[in-house]
Amino acid sequence: MTPAPQGRSATAPAQGRTDVADRATAGFHSAYDEQPTGRWAAPGRVNLIGEHTDYNDGFVLPFALPLRTVVAAAPRPGERWTVWSEIADQPIDFGAAETDAPGRVTGWGGYVAGVVWALREAGYAVPGARLAIASDVPLGSGLSSSAALEAAVLTALADLGGLDLPTERRPRLAQRAENAYVGAPTGIMDQSAVIRCHAGHALFLDCRDESVEHIPFDLDAAGLAILVVDSRAPHRHADGEYASRRAACERAADLLGVPALRDVPVTGLDAALGRLPDDETRRRVRHVVTEDQRVLDTVELLRAGRVPEIGPLLTASHASMRDDFEITVPEVDTAVEAALAAGALGARMTGGGFGGCVLALVEADRSDTVAAAVTAAYAERGFAAPGTRTVLPAPGTTRLP
Ligand code: ADP
Ligand code: MG
Repeated sequence: MTPAPQGRSATAPAQGRTDVADRATAGFHSAYDEQPTGRWAAPGRVNLIGEHTDYNDGFVLPFALPLRTVVAAAPRPGERWTVWSEIADQPIDFGAAETDAPGRVTGWGGYVAGVVWALREAGYAVPGARLAIASDVPLGSGLSSSAALEAAVLTALADLGGLDLPTERRPRLAQRAENAYVGAPTGIMDQSAVIRCHAGHALFLDCRDESVEHIPFDLDAAGLAILVVDSRAPHRHADGEYASRRAACERAADLLGVPALRDVPVTGLDAALGRLPDDETRRRVRHVVTEDQRVLDTVELLRAGRVPEIGPLLTASHASMRDDFEITVPEVDTAVEAALAAGALGARMTGGGFGGCVLALVEADRSDTVAAAVTAAYAERGFAAPGTRTVLPAPGTTRLP
């Protein structure tokens, strides 16, 4: 998980115009006047359940979205990288010197230079390359356009250089690019989801040891879908709130004498709460401990093919984020309430909070009705119109044919 980005949610301007892979290829031609060697696609992601559990060594359950960032790339001699993106006026260009230490390339290019830096720091000989990037993942909406960019670039460079880099090592390197080079604190979920998810499955990730299990999440067969609502809420103090929640959890774990809140079993919750000094800390801990359990319960239901029954767990997760962790805002609460009133089987905010997206589990043929109800509720409250999109679990990062 990432602290919600600052500023209003933005949507990639070229989104939906033509196929994203075609746009990457066309961008490559226009920028470099040559053919790319290949194209690599990495998806955005949404977290089905398990919020603010990642940095507490707990469980998350994201799945990949059918919205992708595509990198068209070709190798070049020497240690030099040029990167074109459809969101920027100018390509960026950097050499080995800018990837000797973090932070030397700033702005969006930092995510790309950060990947080169992380690979080099881990001892890999990164091939020089020209890259062109197009994306359908909205930037800054909490759907992880940053991890999609890192994953697409990392995979392209690994393939171009023939690097011996097992898939399970890749999320850490991409995360390092973002944490250490760009300077944005994120857990391991985003990069793991974007790189390791499978179509038709959610990724059950244990954030303590990074082990994963692919859990069948066949919405289509169940006649269901996920409606993703971009709340378009302006992010209010998101970075500071994220840091304070994280610090509160770490303090509580210290007080309870455990390495992380993941080590408080739900059966021992009441006893643990009794040892905490104040009501706010008790509510923070209750959220994390019960949220871990909700992830485990969701996984059990999905393993048993009881997909519709996860709805109440999603809704309970939202209540816990709203009342105990206090990270929701009126826009996301409105979207959840309106979706449930319109017949969604469950709904919750997804992501770090203070804006971002809401997801609702809906019967596939009612998705438009639920989306319309959310849009109407927004209009009634005077909020800017939300973005709505119906999705099914998509594949992780791949090389395109
Ligand atoms: P999120 O990951 O939720 O979309 P972040 O703030 O973590 O939001 O990452 C968004 C940033 O990632 C953008 O501001 C930009 O710097 C970079 N980024 C993402 N996708 C692209 C892209 N296609 N081209 C250039 N930069 C991108
Ligand atoms: Mg991000």
